[in-house]
Amino acid sequence: MVFVRMNPHDEGSGGESDEYAAARGRLIDRLRRRTDVSDRTLAAIETVPRHEFVPPARRSAAYADRPLPIGHGQTISAPHMVAIMVDLLDVGRGDRVLEIGTGCGYHAAVVAEIVGPGNVHSVEYVPELAESASERLARLGYDVAVHVGDGREGLPLEAPFDAAYLTCAAADGVPDPIVEGIRPGGHVLAPVGGSGAQRLVRLTIRDDGGVDREDHGGVRFVPLQ
Ligand code: SAH
Repeated sequence: MVFVRMNPHDEGSGGESDEYAAARGRLIDRLRRRTDVSDRTLAAIETVPRHEFVPPARRSAAYADRPLPIGHGQTISAPHMVAIMVDLLDVGRGDRVLEIGTGCGYHAAVVAEIVGPGNVHSVEYVPELAESASERLARLGYDVAVHVGDGREGLPLEAPFDAAYLTCAAADGVPDPIVEGIRPGGHVLAPVGGSGAQRLVRLTIRDDGGVDREDHGGVRFVPLQ
């Protein structure tokens, strides 16, 4: 099943209050002080209304720099982790990106701010999360294609992509079908490893089809189901 919304509308968006904008500004100041992420990534994070992506009861914490529960045992990543991952993905306007693990759709929206409409495809395992993320993204004006399925299989019908990333940890390494869907020169970014010992890994696909691997430190993500 694929949910693709091409005509965003404003119904029920709830509008934007000064309070949320101010909290988002403070979050950006904090990320600027505490991380090395680029101004371009910070600008994308400053644009996306994170409070629209978290459950209503969590809105007051939407601009704290920490993960929050989004239901179905899943979490939205902390803003600094999204920022670091967006920087490492190293994509620009017009690049096509594959996300595994849509969750609430926040990370996809930040990436969509950078690559532009129609360029982000996201695969989500839990149908209810896929459906609500798809509706939310469309309502907020993000043209992101959300697919229900097992991200381990990649998205061969939409490949090749310029880059891919996982928002859930792959215990046994990045599944081959995801890597095979990336053009030479592109990256795959993924938390890899079992609980307690995950590393953020960036693969670069070489022209000869080989893969270079960089380690970007210890992380903690929900597991790939
Ligand atoms: N990027 C998300 C974070 C989601 S948490 C956000 O901004 O909210 C990780 C997500 O990966 C969860 O929604 C989980 O259901 C999903 N997931 C886990 N295993 C998966 C699989 N095999 N294929 C696709 N999605 C998967």
